[in-house]
Amino acid sequence: MIERYRNIQDRIARACDSVGRDASSVTLIAVSKTYPASAIQELYDLGHRDFGESRLQELVPKVEELPKDIRWHFIGKLQSNKTRRAAEICHAIHTIETSSQLKELNKSEKSVDVFIEVNVAEEEQKSGILQNSLDTFVQDVIRCEQANLSGLMTIGPVVQDPEQSRPYFRKLRHLGESIGTKNLSMGMSLDFEVGIQEGATHIRVGTLLFGARD
Ligand SMILES: *Cc1c(COP(=O)(O)O)cnc(C)c1O
Repeated sequence: MIERYRNIQDRIARACDSVGRDASSVTLIAVSKTYPASAIQELYDLGHRDFGESRLQELVPKVEELPKDIRWHFIGKLQSNKTRRAAEICHAIHTIETSSQLKELNKSEKSVDVFIEVNVAEEEQKSGILQNSLDTFVQDVIRCEQANLSGLMTIGPVVQDPEQSRPYFRKLRHLGESIGTKNLSMGMSLDFEVGIQEGATHIRVGTLLFGARD
């Protein structure tokens, strides 16, 4: 684990160098879905605090078992009726895409950082809002008292070559600039370096850190 972790940190630093960014401007979210709490604890003991999960049923027991200063990032498809609970236990929700989620979020006791998920490649049956609905949806998010708009997030199409992700990441950056948000959640094990070069502030890495999932 420690070798993998150090290796990713080195790669993040090099990707930042390649475009003149400071490595501290990138948050590595360790995507721990399907891995046991013990794997999370191991990384926590190395000083890591940001973890990503995609199912609430899996997250809740982990939250109960693990240290309280972990920052949980919700990165999975989120049914609106679970949004309130997710807000109560997470530091950030990366998959906000419907008004009904926002309505539920307003019932939460606590506010939460949110990323609007954008379907940049306009793939059918993919979650995330389309570019032409973004401006309207941003207004909805701003009106939602319990949502602190942090930025935009995308899950690009599955690619073989990381360079294939670049146009989608670039597009997300331009959209972020157009609405004036600060953060971009983009890039996974295969393409996080391209994500960083295109401005990612949050990268979501699972298999490269924890090994292949079943
Ligand atoms: C699983 C997942 C990741 C991590 O993917 P890896 O290829 O394992 O790095 C990142 N983002 C989302 C939304 C995911 O569901």
